[in-house]
Amino acid sequence: MTDFQRNATSRRQFLKTSGTMLAMIPVVNLLGCADDSPPPAPQPARPAPPAQQPPAAAPAQPSPAAAMPKLEESDATARALGYVHDANDVDASQQPRFQDGQLCENCALYTPDSSDEADWGGCSIFPGKLVNAKGWCNAWVAKR
Ligand code: SF4
Repeated sequence: MTDFQRNATSRRQFLKTSGTMLAMIPVVNLLGCADDSPPPAPQPARPAPPAQQPPAAAPAQPSPAAAMPKLEESDATARALGYVHDANDVDASQQPRFQDGQLCENCALYTPDSSDEADWGGCSIFPGKLVNAKGWCNAWVAKR
């Protein structure tokens, strides 16, 4: 082998080796980064969410009837129908339909109330108002 041939072979070998090494650089970098990177720092613990408060107790609901105001005898509709809180106060000469024994509590339009206002109840003639169980008005209707 001549010197020229030896040099040519050596040059080819050098270029081949250099090219291989250059090609390996990115791979080594990737592997190196993956291996040498420090482990991630532990994350600080999240603060605990505030303890759940039990739902506040709902305020006691008054019964619908208890929440209603009492009908006033001076109410315009009450006066027009001759309503009175006490059927004993009915002026029979002014209220020809009235008969003894007719009371709100035995009227078909009366709704008894089980709240504290036991002597008062609802009436479909006076929505939103309480009428007295012992009262009466000209719209009295017998229960069937
Ligand atoms: Fe009383 Fe009946 Fe008159 Fe209502 S309609 S006020 S319950 S008598």
